[in-house]
Amino acid sequence: MQKDESHQSLLHLRPWDDESISHYLGRWYRQEVVSTDSHSLGKGLRLGKILWRWENFYFNPPPTSQELQKLDTFTGLGIERLLLLFPPEHEPIKPRPVRICAACYTEAPYHRMSWQYQSTEGCEHHRLRLLPKCPEPKCGEPFPLPSQLTVLQCKKCGMPYKTMAKKQKPY
Ligand SMILES: [Zn+2]
Ligand SMILES: [Zn+2]
Repeated sequence: MQKDESHQSLLHLRPWDDESISHYLGRWYRQEVVSTDSHSLGKGLRLGKILWRWENFYFNPPPTSQELQKLDTFTGLGIERLLLLFPPEHEPIKPRPVRICAACYTEAPYHRMSWQYQSTEGCEHHRLRLLPKCPEPKCGEPFPLPSQLTVLQCKKCGMPYKTMAKKQKPY
């Protein structure tokens, strides 16, 4: 493979189904060829604090087409696909706490955008309630921002997400 080609394929990081913008940006920053963060990239793209806001699930005001176009200059996904990383228009979002279905994480480790919808009570797929924090009673540590999520265990008590899945209540 030519050097240019590998560069290209890494830069065109394919998003997963229902992946949240926060999780996707984190993956994008951590690519070896990129290794950046929202601050330096935001400066380079003149997106200011906007990337930071998206990572934190603050979508009010919603992304403008100009901002999306700038985001597209480095992701190359196209505006239509990019929009799928954001909540649909008029879908109320609860930025905190970061909620997860640990059972989903065990199968495919990424944060789903729909977990932060106000209307989402549980995981339709597993019929389990979402976890708002580490379920270990003595711990209760909040989950990290999806953009910063790299290890699949509680960063305070070390409980693996696989174990957390067994503690989710049916819904
Ligand atoms: Zn699930
Ligand atoms: Zn914990």
